[in-house]
Amino acid sequence: TSFVVSVSKVETDLGQGALVCFEDVTHLEQAGQMRRDFVANVSHELRTPLTALMGFIETLQGPAQGDPAATERFLTIMMAEAQRMERLVRDLLSLSRVEAEERVRPTHQVDLRHVIETALHGLRPLADNAEVSLMTDLPETPVMIPGDRDQLIQVVTNLTENAIKYGGQGGRVDLALSITERVPQLRGPGAILSVRDSGPGIDALHIPRLTERFYRIDTHRSREQGGTGLGLAIVKHIVNRHRGRLRIESQPGEGAEFRVILPL
Ligand code: ADP
Repeated sequence: TSFVVSVSKVETDLGQGALVCFEDVTHLEQAGQMRRDFVANVSHELRTPLTALMGFIETLQGPAQGDPAATERFLTIMMAEAQRMERLVRDLLSLSRVEAEERVRPTHQVDLRHVIETALHGLRPLADNAEVSLMTDLPETPVMIPGDRDQLIQVVTNLTENAIKYGGQGGRVDLALSITERVPQLRGPGAILSVRDSGPGIDALHIPRLTERFYRIDTHRSREQGGTGLGLAIVKHIVNRHRGRLRIESQPGEGAEFRVILPL
């Protein structure tokens, strides 16, 4: 706990006195520390591909000069590093956009079935590449909620992309949407969107921290898969802005399920 203590002289009915104020500034300290950690993380994440790029440029200017095969190979790696920086900048912008407004303005009614279908359309190539079967179980009638369509598409995209990436080659991903008359956490009716994979699952000790910015269970694996470590932080913010809840359940060895509960 951090306090700021200030002392001042005061005149009272009883004569001169001293006024001592204790101000609890723990939350300010914590916010400051979080901001410093965030900047350090971003710098590190950007510096890694940047260092690699500079190394390859030097090699191309020196030992590999005039070697077409090496040039071709290095340019491919350099492109991959540049794309990694681009993904990071894109995710940072998304995160700052969803953090900026606390609540989404419920001006639009969005059909969650369309949201899922649109997100899946963009993910088919990734699933095909990993030989993952994408299965859906959607209601026959619209599931309308007040919300931001693009942001909800991003929620489904991030969760499904993770399920494909971490669920493993040849696995299965199930997306289900249902309506429940009464969700205890929301004290009313809600839509439940579930993304479940058949992968190795997540150890319970990691689950509470998964939505922290840059938290990864296996940094090497995440990077290899093109991850930025920001996907679930973005999901959490968007769900919060829609007054919803995110639940993560997993038994190691039995896959993982990410459930988003949104008020209707
Ligand atoms: P990343 O860009 O690393 O994928 P995320 O914020 O989307 O970042 O996810 C954070 C971490 O949570 C991942 O690095 C991964 O370790 C873990 N994770 C996310 N989804 C799953 C899943 N379906 N199965 C196993 N681990 C997962």
